[in-house]
Amino acid sequence: MTGYITHFVDGKPWEHGATRQGEVHDPATGQVAALVDFASAAEVGTVVAAADRAARAWRDASLAKRTAVLFAFRQLIHERRDELAAAITAEHGKVLSDAAGEVQRGLEVVEFACGIPSAQRGFFSENVSTEVDSYSIRQPLGVVAVITPFNFPAMVPLWFAPIAIACGNAVVLKPSEKDPSAAVLLASWFAEAGLPDGVFNVVHGDKEAVDALLTHPQVKAVSFVGSTPIARYVYETGTAHGKRVQALGGAKNHMVVLPDADLDLAADAAVNAGFGSAGERCMAISVVVAVDPVGDELVGKIAQRVAGIRTGDGRRGCDMGPLVTKVHRDKVASYVDAGERAGAKLVVDGRTVLPDADGSGFFLGPTLFDQVTPQMSIYTDEIFGPVLSVVRAGSYEEALALVNGNPYGNGTAIFTNDGGAARRFQHEVEVGMIGVNVPIPVPMAYYSFGGWKASLFGDTHAHGAEGVHFFTRGKVVTSRWLDPSHGGLNLGFPTQH
Ligand code: NAD
Repeated sequence: MTGYITHFVDGKPWEHGATRQGEVHDPATGQVAALVDFASAAEVGTVVAAADRAARAWRDASLAKRTAVLFAFRQLIHERRDELAAAITAEHGKVLSDAAGEVQRGLEVVEFACGIPSAQRGFFSENVSTEVDSYSIRQPLGVVAVITPFNFPAMVPLWFAPIAIACGNAVVLKPSEKDPSAAVLLASWFAEAGLPDGVFNVVHGDKEAVDALLTHPQVKAVSFVGSTPIARYVYETGTAHGKRVQALGGAKNHMVVLPDADLDLAADAAVNAGFGSAGERCMAISVVVAVDPVGDELVGKIAQRVAGIRTGDGRRGCDMGPLVTKVHRDKVASYVDAGERAGAKLVVDGRTVLPDADGSGFFLGPTLFDQVTPQMSIYTDEIFGPVLSVVRAGSYEEALALVNGNPYGNGTAIFTNDGGAARRFQHEVEVGMIGVNVPIPVPMAYYSFGGWKASLFGDTHAHGAEGVHFFTRGKVVTSRWLDPSHGGLNLGFPTQH
């Protein structure tokens, strides 16, 4: 039976249908699981108007009221984490344990947002001048749009929405049209947690809906996560329409393995970070840089581990699930063809894998290439699939030059037991998030997540203190309580005395 997914607006499911719809697949079986409504520009306008009405009241809700809602929302996600994980696996395809990990990382941002009374505090300075005080306050922006990718259908919306709401804004979330159900679940749980109608809305769709949000005058800020070309477009269009924009883009994350590293640990890390979620993570490792002389031994250890990966339906206890769509699966497979043609050494070929699944899911097994060079498309492009490339480097300097020469700068890792080398790397590398013997260095909710270069447009990272900053704007008040001694004219520029 084919399901039906629609928008969630003003505290309830949308009742007006749509003129256009998209198909949502179960990637493990290849079946169409549901149809999802696509909003027109006019419908987005209706949603933004509802959010704008809600934002005007919500900005005046006390911190106590806001945090009460967030604590209740946190409890609902906590109790229903399995339901949310199952919804993610059904539409994204990642294995259930991985989906549960995504829910956990999203939950941590909700918990951070529960502490908003501390995080949104301003400063107060007494007697900046005689009997004059100054203080700063941070206020919400109004309606903010959150536009998210397919690969973390719960976690990425949760990077932004809880903090935006905690700060007193109303949110219009446009999730990926490929796996939209997690967003709708979150919306209904926000409503159940007592969030006033219209403060959190979900509108589904494609470019038309995104463009409507980017140009709508009542949308004050846009948080976007997705591929680099769209991130650049969203940043340019949103800022041209006067909005504050943070647009997180794609990645090509390198893991540097120095000769003194523990190669068993490095091989485990490369496999986990390369093939977890079928490589569909913006923090996945897609390039291992093996510094001489570790290459042969390291590739052997990685290949041995890859051979043990079970690919199949994420509900069957497999290690790795399918790709999100058939189109994406075929695109990733075409990169494997291209790598082979370009002369990279194909150590493990994922095209021949027999998945543990029924039907015709979008599977591609893990693929390992060695002797990859920076000219090959498997090196230059973000593949976003289970394809791991090993590049050989003669020295630390050569390895660093590769990482810094890459247009992306999302994440990177170094594997070494030399503290001095690790410290030098963290100082010299031009990347936003760095792991030292940690392959996927995703910051905790109370730090901020974001890359450099083509991995982020705008200057504000997601969640943590930067998230609070992004969803608020500052005021500074200078105040004096007058008594009769303050009289007299003085047209000079005010200075302290
Ligand atoms: P995508 O860019 O195709 O889509 C992201 C969002 O933009 C979706 O909501 C989509 O509907 C919308 N969109 C797509 N095409 C559009 C267009 N032409 N105009 C306007 N809107 C459009 O990305 P995706 O395939 O869903 O996600 C994978 C990408 O996201 C990868 O590149 C990955 O690296 C990146 N990503 C980055 C981060 C990060 O933190 N930097 C995190 C997760 C994913």
